[in-house]
Amino acid sequence: MSRADPRHGALVLFSGGQDSTVCLAWALSRFERVETLGFDYGQRHRVELDCRPVVRRELAALDPGWAARLGDDHLLDLALLGQIADTALTREREIALQADGLPNTFVPGRNLLFLTFAAALAYRRGLPVLVGGMCETDYSGYPDCRDNTLKAMQVALSLGLDTPLTVETPLMFLDKADTWALADALGGAALNELVAEHTHTCYLGERGLRHAWGYGCGTCPACTLRAAGHAAWQARA
Ligand code: ZN
Repeated sequence: MSRADPRHGALVLFSGGQDSTVCLAWALSRFERVETLGFDYGQRHRVELDCRPVVRRELAALDPGWAARLGDDHLLDLALLGQIADTALTREREIALQADGLPNTFVPGRNLLFLTFAAALAYRRGLPVLVGGMCETDYSGYPDCRDNTLKAMQVALSLGLDTPLTVETPLMFLDKADTWALADALGGAALNELVAEHTHTCYLGERGLRHAWGYGCGTCPACTLRAAGHAAWQARA
């Protein structure tokens, strides 16, 4: 398999949350070599970053094939995002909806920056595919998570690097219940238990109380979404 073959390898944007963990499992099921990339941008809570090595270790333990394919992890320091964003994720502020209808957790253009750095790293590592957990059905409506934005980035990055780069977004048109179902299809009950136990979603960084869907305060927007998705998925089964 040549380096240009898309099956050769992928770089997964991996935050340590539910969505990117399912994306990592998806990539491990498809590509010969899978590396992971995380961004440290001064998140108010570092719980998610702390989950990353644990999730990687647990995914490798789940499946020997996945263990063989799982390559290096990269963590890029994007502290400069804290200088240009005034948001609830990076500062001690209440999470609320802004006048434009977006939650104030939105860092303008954050995914555009992430994808550009990811593409530069993927180029250097000889990986022709980027995998991200962006989702158009997400309640928050981040414009840099939309399918057309991602398609445009794929074209811009491929042209700018003068090499074909594919941006895969397996969750783009899934809702949260579908995401639990996808994990079930990829790795069965063991993968969903891994997601519940080891990934982090809560905006408040709460990990005290374990629910069926995982740890969290249970009331912030991220917890509410995750809990509702889990309940909807269970109701389908
Ligand atoms: Zn929460």
